[in-house]
Amino acid sequence: MGILDGKKAAEHFKEQIAREATEFTRLTGKKPYLVTILVGNNGASETYVASKLRSSEKVGFRADLIRFDDSVTEAVLLEKIGELNRDEEVDGILVQLPLPAHIDEKKVIMHISPAKDVDGFHPESLGKMLIGLPTFLPATPYGIMELLDYYGIETEGKHCVVMGRSNIVGTPVSLLLSRPTRPGNCTVTITHSRTRHLERITRQADILIVAIGKPGFLREDMVKEGAVVVDVGIHRIADESRKSGYRLVGDVNFEEVAPRCSFISPVPGGVGLMTIVGLLKNTLLAAKQRRDR
Ligand code: NAP
Repeated sequence: MGILDGKKAAEHFKEQIAREATEFTRLTGKKPYLVTILVGNNGASETYVASKLRSSEKVGFRADLIRFDDSVTEAVLLEKIGELNRDEEVDGILVQLPLPAHIDEKKVIMHISPAKDVDGFHPESLGKMLIGLPTFLPATPYGIMELLDYYGIETEGKHCVVMGRSNIVGTPVSLLLSRPTRPGNCTVTITHSRTRHLERITRQADILIVAIGKPGFLREDMVKEGAVVVDVGIHRIADESRKSGYRLVGDVNFEEVAPRCSFISPVPGGVGLMTIVGLLKNTLLAAKQRRDR
């Protein structure tokens, strides 16, 4: 059984991005510039944002964080995004999700200029992806594709079962894996909460992408011997033995499933780190596209 080591793969891609960022700065006199907006102080979001900022600075980007209180109005948030859209210095805008219930996430995503949509959630980015035009890919699916590519996982003609159909993970990764690209050319089945006889389908998978948001959901008897398993889930589970008081687990019961796999991604140390790679690649692309306008 091999590990799809997100840390190792991410280091490789970050070195590549850092080299390109240095070249960009040499040519333009400015660093690629990412602005992140964080509303409230959700513990998990704080961790993700801190990690995105650290990684951005490490590869030579300029990275700023704008914080709003939980009580911020939708109008104020939209006004700030409008300001960042007009700011010539800013290359990429990221609004950390989830947002408080009184703010319409779709409206916020739609308000980000497609030219600065480095999370790849804007309908224009998703539409371009759908018809195979170059664009910003949603960061997590992008990271998963890069992880499969880095480890040379053969995808052509394979049966890939994607568990989950969210707009940010399941649906876009299904599409990317079915495209005539490398990695790609999979025969894809998407499953969701209304799927019947789920384990009959998952047992047919050569490649399983698990993004359902339920800790330890994928068990040994749901996986074919020799399958490749990519665990997208991230959950904080209370753990008194840790200083933090919690540990991270995925949607896969790793201990049970790993021995059956040819490759498996761990949590932590898998897809999460590759999501940041997707974001960094999109930010660099945004900066280059704005330079070349
Ligand atoms: P989501 O929006 O909650 O979607 C979950 C999907 O799983 C839904 O499509 C749901 O079906 C499906 N589902 C739920 N129960 C199921 C079941 N019993 N059998 C089959 N399908 C089932 O979640 P998400 O945003 O895609 O995130 C999924 C997980 O990935 C979460 O743990 C999240 O924290 C994690 N995540 C990680 C990263 C990263 O960087 N590593 C990034 C994003 C998300 P319905 O559509 O029918 O409800």
